[in-house]
Amino acid sequence: MGIVRLIPLGGSGEIGKNCTVVEQDDDMIIVDCGISFPHEEHHGVDIVIPDFTYILENRDKLRGIILTHAHEDHVGALSFLLKEVNVPLYASPLTEALVRSKLEERVHLKDIEFKPLPAGKPFKIGPFTIEPVRVTHSIPETHAISITTEHGRILFTADFKFDMNPVDRIQSDFNRLTEMGDEGVLLLVSDSTNVDQKGWSRSESEVESGLESIFKNAEGRVLVTTFSSQIHRMQQVVNAAKATGRYVSVCGRRMDQVFQMCRNMKYLSVPDDIYVPNEDLNKYKHDEIVVLVTGSQGEQMAALSQMSRGEYSRMKVVQGDTIVYSARAIPGNEGGIWRTINRLFKLGADVITDYGTPIHVSGHGYEDEIRLMYQMTKPFYVAPVHGEPRHQIHFSRLLDDLGHPGHRKFILANGDVLQIDEQKAWIADKVQAGDVWIDQHGNAVVTDSCLRQRTALANDGIFIISALIDTDDQCFVGKPTSYSSGFVGDNDAIEDIMDDLIKGCSRFKTEAFSSAEAIKNELEKAARRFIYHRTSQKPVVIAVVQTV
Ligand SMILES: [Zn+2]
Ligand SMILES: [Zn+2]
Repeated sequence: MGIVRLIPLGGSGEIGKNCTVVEQDDDMIIVDCGISFPHEEHHGVDIVIPDFTYILENRDKLRGIILTHAHEDHVGALSFLLKEVNVPLYASPLTEALVRSKLEERVHLKDIEFKPLPAGKPFKIGPFTIEPVRVTHSIPETHAISITTEHGRILFTADFKFDMNPVDRIQSDFNRLTEMGDEGVLLLVSDSTNVDQKGWSRSESEVESGLESIFKNAEGRVLVTTFSSQIHRMQQVVNAAKATGRYVSVCGRRMDQVFQMCRNMKYLSVPDDIYVPNEDLNKYKHDEIVVLVTGSQGEQMAALSQMSRGEYSRMKVVQGDTIVYSARAIPGNEGGIWRTINRLFKLGADVITDYGTPIHVSGHGYEDEIRLMYQMTKPFYVAPVHGEPRHQIHFSRLLDDLGHPGHRKFILANGDVLQIDEQKAWIADKVQAGDVWIDQHGNAVVTDSCLRQRTALANDGIFIISALIDTDDQCFVGKPTSYSSGFVGDNDAIEDIMDDLIKGCSRFKTEAFSSAEAIKNELEKAARRFIYHRTSQKPVVIAVVQTV
């Protein structure tokens, strides 16, 4: 018998860019392929994707990609991987529709093959038997994925909560999860996002009464912002609007696209007589309107951000409008969110981020739900993922609490290779893994050094020296010139720096004049020193050198 390998390339030790490889001999499948978001210091970086080097080096083994659900942190990086590999995607009808509409923008769709992911119906991919199991989350059709290998079953919980009152009335499949526990689960790969929250998460359907109360009491229009993938939330906005006699409109390209698609596919139930297209909004009184709007994360180009700057042509935010934030802030986005909120307040709107009854609940189960998942599935090994190290460590403590043996749990980092044979499991190795930064034009790759330079540029600007040098006489020909941008130094300081440089150059060692490249390096080093000495600043310094 061979060895089974599980390798997270993203999503372990972080929340975001979920992507895990499962390998057995010459066959490999991937579960999810998502993105994460950059931090504020990542200048010009739009999204972060996993490093696919390992997959590309082993592309001959790849048999397919299984998608647990349609959230961006699980499907957002597909367009980048599918440029390099051509394998089938296994997805539910909703996930397929949402992924297709995104991929249409980037990849030639005719090359992509989608295959069904039917809950409760096992099927084969290469040597693996796959069985999707329904779980509740904040988007319909989320599936835990059971992958049976030659050494036993690996069960990915996917993002889950045990919502006893789900918006679409479709429960998690408790029976099948329990049965799988009885049949044997070798390894549970579990969501750990909310493991540090005590008790049980609130049901998604509780949000409706909070929204209803706001809609009832607001004197003007109500704008609700959430993620465009929050289909259950959209349904509750529609329900609350209906209950309070308001009409619903949608602003923002992606949200409108998802709204119409889900309406057509019957994932959203929206009576015709309450839907209002944007262009008809002014036919209604303000207290008759609810608008679903993109921009819950303060994204620059999203509809709500544009409205806050008065740049959204279809709608202006005015005194009396109420804006409801029905989403959590993804860490890193807080600055942009608060700036948007402040601008909205200045326009005279009221902005609600918190309310007596919930206006947002998490899609991830709390400690007791994770405990129940463990008790039902009775795994032999456990690897907590979809969490930062603090979540993984909390999970590990919970496992101690549950009496789970210490040597049968694995806190994996991205790139760790968890190997399993017929007798044991162990972290054997590490493969290349990490962040690949994508700029706003969709180009990989903003590198580490590129980011460092951007930070330096943002902090202290740039200082350029242009010089002609006589390598025989080892001196400048004419006076070198300087250009700067974003550098805070007056003309006197710059003149002093250039004088220092001319004097300094005469003290360079002979080797420094061996080539233009060597002179350039010496000049840049010296210039950095003199600039810091005169101005206490560290701009990016570039010397452009020509020799005679
Ligand atoms: Zn999710
Ligand atoms: Zn997720």
